[in-house]
Amino acid sequence: MNNNWSDEREVAPKPFGFVPFPSAVKRENTVGQDKVLSGDYVSGRLLLQVEARTHLFVASGSYLLGEDAQLEVPVVAGFYRVGGVPAIPGSSLKGMTRSIVEAVTPSCVTATNARREELPIDTSRARDGCRPGNACPACSIFGCMGRLSKVRFGDLRPPSEPPVKTILWSFKPLHNPRPSTTSQVYGNQRQFAGRKFYRPGKMAGAPDETPVEVLPAGTKLFGSVRLWNLTPAEVGALLFGLGLDGTLTPKLGGGKPRCLGAVTLSAVWFAPFNPRNWTRIRNLGSTLKEHALQSWIEQYIGIARTNQYLLDEQVAALREILRMPTGDAVCPADLY
Ligand SMILES: [Zn+2]
Repeated sequence: MNNNWSDEREVAPKPFGFVPFPSAVKRENTVGQDKVLSGDYVSGRLLLQVEARTHLFVASGSYLLGEDAQLEVPVVAGFYRVGGVPAIPGSSLKGMTRSIVEAVTPSCVTATNARREELPIDTSRARDGCRPGNACPACSIFGCMGRLSKVRFGDLRPPSEPPVKTILWSFKPLHNPRPSTTSQVYGNQRQFAGRKFYRPGKMAGAPDETPVEVLPAGTKLFGSVRLWNLTPAEVGALLFGLGLDGTLTPKLGGGKPRCLGAVTLSAVWFAPFNPRNWTRIRNLGSTLKEHALQSWIEQYIGIARTNQYLLDEQVAALREILRMPTGDAVCPADLY
């Protein structure tokens, strides 16, 4: 892997890296989310703060009219909104988290446009091999055929005061990678080298392009994740997948190759559900915050690593890719 990706060249170095696939998928008979279990199982609600390190762009699918939005250009792709306020849908956060958990645990392969014969895997790795009684880590946590997800992601919203402000930002349109013609990138023999993640870095703008509406770097948003019946190792994998060990700067939303969407996540509190009355938070005394919350996070991530549920090689590879550079690493403004 060439790390000098900020070098000036005619075609810019690739703004992404690959986490190698684990050697095997590990499937187990795991519990579902139909009722809250006691014992070692963990259920509760985790409040998250998400801070934008670069601008965020999640398209609403509709356009702002220049006059209404007091813009100098006629139409602009608008930011996704909930109740009229810019927000990030929980499905975006879930997608980000699942792709990290899939990459760093012995999980099956999902969500790719690649033709199956191009993947360096046997059919036992494909998603359709997972069932509720025989599920890989990612399918046990996030759901698969016949199994509802054991985690539910709420929308990420800004605090009501002060009101959140969007700005306009322009970048070159993206081109889709074509796996069948880019074998030098994706590995030999038209096989994928692993799971692809976009590196964070300085944003590459293109002032002449039509702008889109973004939430500027520095914006803070809040949202919660509800979890049911996760084993301690599953909790550790989820917390790592949310970037809560502080080593990852993953990306949310659109414009990832142009370095938009880089975020850092932190936990605000965790309130466990009471197995006897799981509709209520047990009591304020058991809600974890600050130092107690941080050591709880470290403890569960540690359990997942000790159990080889979080895989050291894949964790190290992902950390190298999703490390916010201290230097001037810039995402390519044009072709790469
Ligand atoms: Zn699976």
